[in-house]
Amino acid sequence: MPTKTFEFQVEARQLLHMMIHSIYSNKDVFLRELISNASDALDKLRIEALRDDTLNADVSDLHIAIEADTDARTLTIRDNGVGMSHDDVVQLIGTIAKSGTAEFLQQMKQAENTAAAEGLIGQFGVGFYSSFMVADEVTLLTRRAGETTGTRWASTGEGTYTLETVDEAPQGTSVILRLKPEDTEDKVFDYTDPAKIREIVKRYSDFITWPIRLATRAPAAAEPPEQENDEAGERPEPETLNSRKALWARSRDEVSDEEYHELYKHISHDWADPLEIIQMRAEGTFEYQALLFLPSHPPRDIFSQDNKRGVQLYVKRVLIMEDCEALVPEYLRFVKGVVDAADLSLNVSREILQQDRQIQLMHRRLAKKVLSTIREMKANRPENYASFWREFGRVVKEGLLSDFDNRDTILGISSFATTHDAERPTGLQEYIERMKEGQQHIFYMTGESRSAIERSPHMEVFRDKGLEVLLLTDPVDEVWVGSVPEYQGRELRSIAKGEPELGTEEDTEEAKADREQQREEYAALLTWMTERLGEDVKDVRLSSRLTVSPACVVSDTGDVTPALQNLYRAMGQ
Ligand code: ADP
Ligand code: MG
Repeated sequence: MPTKTFEFQVEARQLLHMMIHSIYSNKDVFLRELISNASDALDKLRIEALRDDTLNADVSDLHIAIEADTDARTLTIRDNGVGMSHDDVVQLIGTIAKSGTAEFLQQMKQAENTAAAEGLIGQFGVGFYSSFMVADEVTLLTRRAGETTGTRWASTGEGTYTLETVDEAPQGTSVILRLKPEDTEDKVFDYTDPAKIREIVKRYSDFITWPIRLATRAPAAAEPPEQENDEAGERPEPETLNSRKALWARSRDEVSDEEYHELYKHISHDWADPLEIIQMRAEGTFEYQALLFLPSHPPRDIFSQDNKRGVQLYVKRVLIMEDCEALVPEYLRFVKGVVDAADLSLNVSREILQQDRQIQLMHRRLAKKVLSTIREMKANRPENYASFWREFGRVVKEGLLSDFDNRDTILGISSFATTHDAERPTGLQEYIERMKEGQQHIFYMTGESRSAIERSPHMEVFRDKGLEVLLLTDPVDEVWVGSVPEYQGRELRSIAKGEPELGTEEDTEEAKADREQQREEYAALLTWMTERLGEDVKDVRLSSRLTVSPACVVSDTGDVTPALQNLYRAMGQ
């Protein structure tokens, strides 16, 4: 078969360039990434075989093999998993489909120093391409399970790659790295050294459920410790490097944070550590264990339709579904982790899961647990909570529209920008504690930005009287405020709608009589104005809300606000 040369897509080329010029200081993670991909491929094949018994694939000894050749300076990571078709290879390896890549590369270019660049890349992650940090040539040989021909892909990472169809290829994928020379300054180690490989696998991939076996072709001294040999002269059994222990089944004090973090990175494909670890265990008639994570940053596609959400669903240590969305509500779609149930059918479809009573029960419990963890963060780890809310608050607030059972809890863990403090957002509880004598309601205003709201004439009287106003600037705020009437008996009141009812002297009998008198005095003027403005307004009335501006436009309490009109328009309604 002829070998053809192809060009990398622009973004892929730029990322590769960054890899070759080593922007990560920790190059060991290339092995974590390749093992993670191999493990995913094994999971996928297992799940596929479970669903489709006509699949012509061998699932008898699924594993990952690492082969190191010290003399040739090559390192091979092999799996007998699902593999890739010719088209898969072009799609998955030649292009970067990850959303936000272009934006990320732009930010990288503007990063002023290496620390800033490292921080950015730590949030991005480059998966397979990280092999170019340690290799000057990478070859990938793969065959999709069930297909007969394979594909060989090769590249030095500089602009182009070659593709070739091969008749003889084992099921699954082998990635063969031609390693760069050792360079202690640049932190490129001898990755054919078994001790180094063992160390990296232990550190980053110990929990991987598939066996990771090491075969070395190295001087005798570097061989693993004595192992049983059935027949003299045969190579020793390959050494299994990982303990394969399910972290969620172990008690918290047995497992280090680093181990939890590595599991999180494998599951989420995130390169940054998670913010919180949540562990749960249910005993009794319906047993399950859960290990959940709150990430420190949202994925770049959190607001996109095809954002993958949900946690991994295991049944008795066997992964049966990636991204099981039935287990977590949509407004907690950033939660990652594992749920391992003791008693579920292995062969369930997504549709059946949505209906399953046990799944619904777990869904409710998991949601409550995540919310209570956030509440606990708010009380005990305010810095973590503040960072969490900055990153995910907009998403969590969607729950005010969908999760009526937990509405009060969600309101309780929410924070809002406020006129009380320009720097720190406030919770509703704190707002209520600061309410003025006689103030009945929680006042808020929605708008595009803090400064736009602050400039609004609606704010005048509130500023004047020192009444605190919440400044709601997220698009979702426009929507939920319409359906959340109160918090702890206090009505939520928009200051831009209807009469504000300040609860101060304006509402005394005397003031009301005053206003009535003024209304009579100005009746003729108001009628004239209403007629002149005609269709453009509903009504013209005297207002107590202004202190500086002569007039302002308000909407009625039940009306759609201008920002909401924009939102509906953006959603195509
Ligand atoms: P990610 O794992 O975050 O998707 P990677 O760059 O690590 O990103 O891998 C890109 C894609 O290439 C994977 O999503 C997968 O579809 C495919 N891939 C990589 N390695 C393998 C492998 N060993 N077997 C099968 N597919 C693989
Ligand atoms: Mg990967």
